[in-house]
Amino acid sequence: MFCPRCKSEYRDDFLKCADCGVDLVSKLPPEPAGDFGDEEFVEVFSTYQQGDIAFIKSVLDGEGITYFFQGESSIMLIAAGAYARLMVKADEAQRAREILQELGFLKRV
Ligand SMILES: [Zn+2]
Repeated sequence: MFCPRCKSEYRDDFLKCADCGVDLVSKLPPEPAGDFGDEEFVEVFSTYQQGDIAFIKSVLDGEGITYFFQGESSIMLIAAGAYARLMVKADEAQRAREILQELGFLKRV
């Protein structure tokens, strides 16, 4: 038996946790996965322009979109002509595209 609160293990003939006073369960629920690691991100937009990046960030932050700019930290690379790529969580990518279309960053299809 296990305490669901403090996760102490007890013999089967115990019913309550001595420390917490809560009912023991025969099995602890599985740990919630809850990590960010296996979320899928897709590329929605890319730009050379630092000004675009700052503007898009402020808009997406306001919309609550989950995103990051790949290559953003290498400002020298962007200055040298490399892209910063806007990566958006897959299930929010369509919404992000619509926002960027409204702002004129992406062409309507
Ligand atoms: Zn306990």
